[in-house]
Amino acid sequence: MTFKATVLTLYPEMFPGHLGYSLAGKALEREQWTLETVQIREFATDKHRSVDDTPAGGGAGMVLKPDVLARAIDHVSQGDNRPRLLMSPRGKPLTQERVRQLAEAEGAIIVCGRFEGIDQRVIDARNLEEVCIGDYILSGGEPAALTLLDAVVRILPGVMGNDLSGVHESFEAGLLEHPHYTRPQVWEERDIPAVLTSGNHAAIEKWRREQALALTRERRPDLLPKDSQSVKK
Ligand code: SAH
Repeated sequence: MTFKATVLTLYPEMFPGHLGYSLAGKALEREQWTLETVQIREFATDKHRSVDDTPAGGGAGMVLKPDVLARAIDHVSQGDNRPRLLMSPRGKPLTQERVRQLAEAEGAIIVCGRFEGIDQRVIDARNLEEVCIGDYILSGGEPAALTLLDAVVRILPGVMGNDLSGVHESFEAGLLEHPHYTRPQVWEERDIPAVLTSGNHAAIEKWRREQALALTRERRPDLLPKDSQSVKK
């Protein structure tokens, strides 16, 4: 099944952006996923093609108009069961778990906000799932959509050269990943940890697991299961 991404944006030329390169780009060429962009402005009806207006209640900035955006959404979602996402700093933080669920869907319809945001009524009326990619404010939803799609596309079946390489990744097992090393054996007087060149696979696995646990405890204790957050190894 091909993952079908449809992105609603005022800047379609920002796509596929970095997703046109490397593994995601090759997968796009091979049609392992598809990307359609829709210019929201095409759904404006006045002669100036306006898509935004001043905020009700006053204040700085502009707000994307509900009628224009709803027409764009309806245009792409007729008889469509794909999740409808809105990139938004107020959304649920994106996790690898949600990324995995999305990768199993038929695709996604992704709305990119601009200005101060979009009229609340269209979020409610079209049941948009707000998704946040981190606790900071971007100037538009496009880089957020590209980030979300990057995370989804890389785990689609057959996209990564070595399908196993996703298994040990940070977050996949609820832990940060262990450190990596490669040749030369000694670099600036620093050695590769001896266990990694020992050929003892059980010892290597054990070392990696211990490193992953220690790193997670130190940097992201919030990722550890509740009952082990206070337990010392
Ligand atoms: N006034 C808003 C920010 C608007 S930023 C607020 O304070 O919540 C403009 C657009 O950029 C948003 O509509 C959204 O689509 C996108 N955006 C900004 N930061 C984001 C983030 N952390 N995650 C996802 N989308 C984001």
